[in-house]
Amino acid sequence: MSNTVLTSVSASTIRHDWTLDEVQALFSMPFNDLMFQAQTVHRQHFNANQVQVSTLLSIKTGACPEDCKYCSQSARNKTDLEKERLLETEKVLQAAKRAKDMGSTRFCMGAAWRNPKERDMPYVIDMVKGVKALGLETCMTLGMLSKEQADQLQDAGLDYYNHNLDTSPEHYNQIITTRTYQDRLDTLDNVRSSGMKVCSGGIVGLGEKAVDRASLLVQLANLPKHPDSVPINMLVKVEGTPLSDVEDLESFEFIRCIAIARIMMPKSHVRLSAGRSTMNEQMQSLCFLAGANSIFYGCKLLTTENPETNQDIELFKKLGINTETVDDDGHELEHKIKTAVVDQQHSDLFYNAAN
Ligand code: SF4
Repeated sequence: MSNTVLTSVSASTIRHDWTLDEVQALFSMPFNDLMFQAQTVHRQHFNANQVQVSTLLSIKTGACPEDCKYCSQSARNKTDLEKERLLETEKVLQAAKRAKDMGSTRFCMGAAWRNPKERDMPYVIDMVKGVKALGLETCMTLGMLSKEQADQLQDAGLDYYNHNLDTSPEHYNQIITTRTYQDRLDTLDNVRSSGMKVCSGGIVGLGEKAVDRASLLVQLANLPKHPDSVPINMLVKVEGTPLSDVEDLESFEFIRCIAIARIMMPKSHVRLSAGRSTMNEQMQSLCFLAGANSIFYGCKLLTTENPETNQDIELFKKLGINTETVDDDGHELEHKIKTAVVDQQHSDLFYNAAN
């Protein structure tokens, strides 16, 4: 078996022709062999002890017209989420400054919209320019984008645009009916052709079958270019949503998804995203071993819980992980983060930032 694994690893190239059978075969591998293969691919392209850190701020919360069955922000789901209008640019910039002090290299701004309206564009463009001027990479997730809007955001300096495929095309209609899978692919096309980097992944634990998880990964890896960032989210069950009682996904299945995403998209940052607050340190460590090399800091991921930033730092210290901006100066980072966490506790700007 080891020889078979090594052979397939050394043949690891950037591919866009993955078949469902191949990916299902990866899911069926013995766990240790899969982890070895993922870690070997990971080390060919990345420093295995570095993790990229982003902060996510919700710039407009709730009242979304879409019907995503997992989402606390859908107006159709009866959750107790407090809605908020589009934040003022100044507040967004204050939050971005804090994120930078905490060691984040990328600041992601999310709005619960079907798509940005023309009247919204000047505001979000100002936010991009302001955050960029602070020396941070910028990322936004605003729903569907036309080609023209993608070009406007690119011109403003937006580095990344997040738009997830969510699940497999086969399971998709069970999760959302107000936009099509093709709508999502079209938005990704518009983002890619504007020159911005694509952040796109999905959510597992939505009640999908094992074949759907393989099919989602085939969709992502067979895009014309692999997404630069691939968030793999574990469903965070929110009371009041149709998926609040769905069966838990087995932890090892989630880790396998991370490992297989790493193998299929060797040069992408694979982000351990929503659902981290339900994972203990050991599970998160296995995800890093499987090739996850990006996380969100911040105590709320849009509207669901995320581990406290200082817990992340403690875990990084135990594992000898550095963030991508910091070389050997872990002490300085630790000090900055502790200071920023105290500041954050006295601020109403941060959402406890995973959706
Ligand atoms: S996932 Fe996004 S598009 Fe879907 S309901 Fe939530 S905020 Fe709206």
